[in-house]
Formats: sequence, C-alpha cells, structure tokens
Amino acid sequence: MPTTTIEAPLRSALHELQLRRLRTALARREVAVPVETLADLRRVPFTTKDDLRAQYPLGMMTVPTDELARLHSSSGTSGRPTIVGHTYRDLEIWADLMARSLEAAGVRPGTIVHNAYPYGLTTGGFGFQQGAERLGATVVPAAGAPLEVQAALIRDLGAQVLCCSPSFAAQLADVLGDSALEIGLFGGEMWTPRLGRRLEAALGLKALNTYGLSEVIGPGVASECHLGCGMHVNEDHFLVEVVDPATLEPLGDDALGELVITTLTREAMPLIRYRTGDLTSLTTQPCACGRVTARLHSLLGRRADSLGGLFPSQIEEVLLAEPGAGLTYQIVVGPSQLELRCEPVDRSVDPSALADRIAAALRKQLGLDPVVFVAPPGSLPRSPGKAVRVVHA
Ligand SMILES: [Zn+2]
Repeated sequence: MPTTTIEAPLRSALHELQLRRLRTALARREVAVPVETLADLRRVPFTTKDDLRAQYPLGMMTVPTDELARLHSSSGTSGRPTIVGHTYRDLEIWADLMARSLEAAGVRPGTIVHNAYPYGLTTGGFGFQQGAERLGATVVPAAGAPLEVQAALIRDLGAQVLCCSPSFAAQLADVLGDSALEIGLFGGEMWTPRLGRRLEAALGLKALNTYGLSEVIGPGVASECHLGCGMHVNEDHFLVEVVDPATLEPLGDDALGELVITTLTREAMPLIRYRTGDLTSLTTQPCACGRVTARLHSLLGRRADSLGGLFPSQIEEVLLAEPGAGLTYQIVVGPSQLELRCEPVDRSVDPSALADRIAAALRKQLGLDPVVFVAPPGSLPRSPGKAVRVVHA
C-alpha cells in the first residue's frame, strides 16, 4: 500500500521541496529564468489556453512520443481542443494524488465508490477510478448508465461514496430515495455552498468539493478533507498562485483572483504559471484536520462566465436559498434581458408565487431584475455530462 497522506511537513520544508521540483520543471520546459526562491517565479511568463491551442496536437509535450502512456483531450466545445499527454510515471502520480484526496475525504479500503464521472477523452472517470483502486476501495464505473439504473446500483450495492458532477447529483436526488451514501465528491463544475447543503439534505451525505482541470492533470489538484472547509491543494505537486486578473500581480491570503498553477512533477506536459481562468481565493492557515497544505475556497466561477461582473454562482446562491426552488436551473442571456429558468421542488409549490419570491430576492441581494420563468418540475433540460447553466440566446 503506497503512502497516500502528506506527513504534515512544515510549510518551510514544503517550500524547499517545491523549489527543487520547480527548477526541474523549468528546465524540462526550457525556461531560462534563474530561480533562487519561489518568489522568483513571478518573473516567469504565464502560459494560457491559447498557448496550448497553438501547439495542437503534441507541441506541448516535453518527452518523445513513444514515452507517452496516454493522451487525453479537452472537449473542444469552446475552440480548438487541447491534447494532454501523460507518461506512465505521470499516471502513477495521478493515481497516488487521487488516492490521497479520497482518503482525506474519508474513503477507506473496502468502501464502495460509485463513480459517475465520464470515462473517455476527459479525465474525471479515470482519475477517480485509479485513485479509488489504489486506495483499495471497490469502484463501480457507472458513468453512462441511465439515471434509474445508477440509482438502483447505488441502493443495491450499498455504495457509501458518490463521485460525480453536482448537477448529476441533483438529478440523482430526484430518484434515489434511501441509500447508504455517506460522502459525495462533487467536482467538474462550479457549485455553491448552498447547493452543497441542498444535496446533503436530499442525498443524506456530506458534500465535499474537488478541483482539477485536464490541462494540468485532471481531478487531483485540490480536494476537501472530511471537514469540508476548503480544498487542500496537493502542493508537493502543484504550485498555486492567485493573481489579480487585471494586473496579474500575485494576491495574498483570502483575496479573490484568478488561479494560476505550475505543475512541479509532470513529465509529459509540464505547465508553468498556467492561467486557469477560474476565480477563487486561497488560505494558508492550517486546517483543523491537521494538514498544513494551502486550501482553495469554492470557485466563484470562470472569468469567461462573468455576466457584467456578476457570476452564475451568485445567482445560484440566491435561487437555492428559496426552499421552494428545485436544484435544476438555467440562465438565458438575451441581448437586453436576463432570464432565469427554474423549477419548483414539486407540484405543491405555486409557480407564480415562487417566481415572485425569487425575483424579489435577486433584486434585493444582487440588484438584478431578470425575468424569472418557473417551468413544470422535471421539464428543464438535464445534461448527462457538464451542466449547461448559462445559455446565450
Ligand atoms: Zn482539512
């Protein structure tokens, strides 16, 4: 059994390890900037998604093609896809990091893990699969099976852990009923604490946040421990910064900015100061669980999702504070008007009164005046993959 937990190193020892690994990563990427301390990283240029696209398909690889064990890809729905290569050692480290994340969440050898993250070009399914197996858990690779079939498997096999997107968890909540679920590891999409509390109530589990992106590795960058108070970054493998999106200057603890990640150990495709486009904040205060790694707060959203300075997550917080509102919603952005489409939790809720309450809350809390359309329960589109929360009309 491999070691899957950090032995609570002092942060200074961690920084020494990071510096050593950073020098190796910079050399691998052929970055010539001398780095005496971690702060010197600020003098190294950023890497962007456009840089990756420009190198399609394999221009970002730093190993010969015959050393690539696997190639994943982004979906390419928002432009040219990006190919992400892994050596065998990259895959081994990925499995270790996922095992560490799952163990921190409370998964143990023998735990039954229902994995509904998609297997395929994207990284979610494989990441959770490899990590759970490495930990000695029992994995049910359920992605792609119909919702009712998955619900039956969760009940009949007594799954204790559910790994999926929060929007898929919301769909399961409609059909699951009683189960043995204890832990939900929800990632791949932005979700708010409010949605987490609603999922906890509906599914009878503890909702934990997990973060990663395929360009960097996939899931396994950061994940919440069982206490659920911020995502522990696997800092021995990823150096994280939060920068002001306008000035690109690094920000301190708890300041909201864009997350920038440098991979410290990846062989096939090291990334230096990769601008994720994700807006969040960091804390380096130790967690009550005893781990000393920095923690990411839940994501506000992606820079690109900003609706005139406002984020879908802020609308979700207000919407789901209304107990009569269901968990599925869509924001339609028109040329001059925002429309929020949502559903009542069930048919006992008066739709027009619900629409009035939601509109009043959005006006009061966000200064928004959207059209609120309450559709019949179960009628809004549900995606088997990533939820489409924002539609441009
Ligand atoms: Zn913790």
